[in-house]
Amino acid sequence: STAPAESLACEARRPLVDATHPSSARVYDYLLGGKDNFATDRSAANKIEEAFPAIRTGAQENRRFLLRGVRYLAAEAGIRQFLDIGTGIPTSPNVHEAAQGITPEARIAYVDNDPIVLAHARALMVSDPRGNVGYLDADIRAPEAIVGSDLVRKVLDFDEPIALILSAILHFIPDEERPAEIVRTFVEALPPGSYVLASHVTPEHEPRLRPASAGYRDDGVRTRPRTAAEFERLVFAGRGLELVPPGVVLVSRWRRDPDEPPAPSPAEVSAYGGLAKLA
Ligand code: SAH
Repeated sequence: STAPAESLACEARRPLVDATHPSSARVYDYLLGGKDNFATDRSAANKIEEAFPAIRTGAQENRRFLLRGVRYLAAEAGIRQFLDIGTGIPTSPNVHEAAQGITPEARIAYVDNDPIVLAHARALMVSDPRGNVGYLDADIRAPEAIVGSDLVRKVLDFDEPIALILSAILHFIPDEERPAEIVRTFVEALPPGSYVLASHVTPEHEPRLRPASAGYRDDGVRTRPRTAAEFERLVFAGRGLELVPPGVVLVSRWRRDPDEPPAPSPAEVSAYGGLAKLA
């Protein structure tokens, strides 16, 4: 098993936050009602919102899906280790709070490449003393560097099942950056019994999402919405992964709790999610 990492374990590359161009982490934070964003992010978000008014609803539904997935993994699948790529600015409850609320000894390695998320790493890493949380400043497009990093290896034991979380990140990776190869590198590093939890923006129910993502791109953040079939192929197909019921569905429909409010319309949600187990 792993040696305990320091409660604050960081590797920093770029300390400077760029307030002149929008960042996906800060736009998402703004859409979720957070305060860690600048005028440039709010203006980018407002542009998306003009084209696609339900974007906040979609972001909230994605967050709900992520938390249901983490609770399922901790409570029903017995998972105690999480590798969360594209963590985002802290939004309570965070992945480690949801997991450690069920399994206090859970260990979480967070990874993001936005300096604003790094700036919040200290707040992210208030771990239950029985568990452990680490943060790595790294880019998903360098998957070998992530799975081989000292930080990730200190927090996670790659001989025990790990849940890989790719929540609302892969639509920022265009096809030419080979997202399928990135996913494969991560999945091949996981031991048997591991899981992959992922979500992804889709244009299928809301045609206006294509121009909305074009607006996002004009401001320097590219997105590549994908259909359910594209998303399923990208993440889950042909990798020894078996989808947990109900499979790839709108995030709002994935194991929704009966005590949650009714799901918004598919067009408002416009994101797919799925969870699969590695045989
Ligand atoms: N996973 C969280 C946050 C999603 S927002 C959730 O589902 O609620 C998307 C996050 O992905 C942002 O924090 C952004 O900084 C991060 N991200 C985008 N491109 C990335 C890349 N190439 N490498 C690492 N992180 C990236």
